[in-house]
Amino acid sequence: MVHPDDPAVPSTKHPAPCSLCARPAVTFIRYSGAHLCRQHFIEFVKRKVTREVRRQVRLPETAVIAVAVSGGKDSVAALRILHDIFGPRRGTRLVAITVDEGIRGYRPPSLRIVAQNCRQIGVEHHVVSFKDHFGMTMDSTKARWGQSTPCTYCGVLRRHSMNRKARELGADVLATGLNLDDTAQSVLMNICRGDVERLARLGPHEKVQQGLIPRIQPLRQVTDKEAFLYATLMGYPVHHSVCPYAGGAMRNRFRDIVLELERASPGTRYCILNSYDAMREAIEEKYPPAKLAGCTSCGEPSVDGLCEACRLVQALKKGQGARGEGNDGRRRPLTRAP
Ligand code: SF4
Ligand SMILES: [Zn+2]
Ligand SMILES: [Zn+2]
Repeated sequence: MVHPDDPAVPSTKHPAPCSLCARPAVTFIRYSGAHLCRQHFIEFVKRKVTREVRRQVRLPETAVIAVAVSGGKDSVAALRILHDIFGPRRGTRLVAITVDEGIRGYRPPSLRIVAQNCRQIGVEHHVVSFKDHFGMTMDSTKARWGQSTPCTYCGVLRRHSMNRKARELGADVLATGLNLDDTAQSVLMNICRGDVERLARLGPHEKVQQGLIPRIQPLRQVTDKEAFLYATLMGYPVHHSVCPYAGGAMRNRFRDIVLELERASPGTRYCILNSYDAMREAIEEKYPPAKLAGCTSCGEPSVDGLCEACRLVQALKKGQGARGEGNDGRRRPLTRAP
């Protein structure tokens, strides 16, 4: 979500000339001190994404890249830039996947926007719905959420649906629209909660676990505002609405904290990311990915017995609400996905 107080807000009305040519700048990149015109800003973002994708993954000659596209600015920018990078490459196929959680008034218009983007660039669009996968929707289970925040299990079910579809499509990797702000917030949030194990699983995923499609994050070095400006300047159709169930009080608090730090010291988001990358190997060594088997109900990867998604769906259907723990109240060993 775009935050109005972001100190790195690129302004399309900035009067200064571009630092690289004589054209008028459309933005000022505060953390680097550069004014950039439309063309140089677009090149700047594309260069960051290209470098990051190359760093994160080495694709085989023939590859399928699945892209999780919700229709928001980040996932649309990720899809379109990946198409620019890999479109001309023979042997690489891009497919877009959207999860339909069954949220009236919110998801249907975004599905149309994703379909529109896919039509414009000739990319297959697949929709996976909670209704088909789990026999329920977010709207239909509303009364049974109890004290849990909807995102607690919507997130689990979304990852489950996405992984399953990406695997069915033969994807080598699954790209998400996670940007720099999202990552910096997640790193800080998990540190403050003392959840080092979750920190080890933030991705991008370099080790392949059976049944899990490794996730890559093309926008990992792109800020929230840069993604917004990129999508706007390129004129891409984007869905701007916010999910009516998005509570995320904790996430919002960390969004504010990260922006405050960035305001006081431009470049802080990159420092958080770089610190995380420097610690990552050590954390992953201490918390290696769990051994996975097939879920006894759906066959998706699971640590023991039922996968997390099946446990949550069962609990919801019994009207028990969802918690971040097993039904026995014991915290389950964490896998890095579904
Ligand atoms: S904001 Fe939460 S409830 Fe809404 S789609 Fe995202 S994860 Fe689901
Ligand atoms: Zn320029
Ligand atoms: Zn399952």
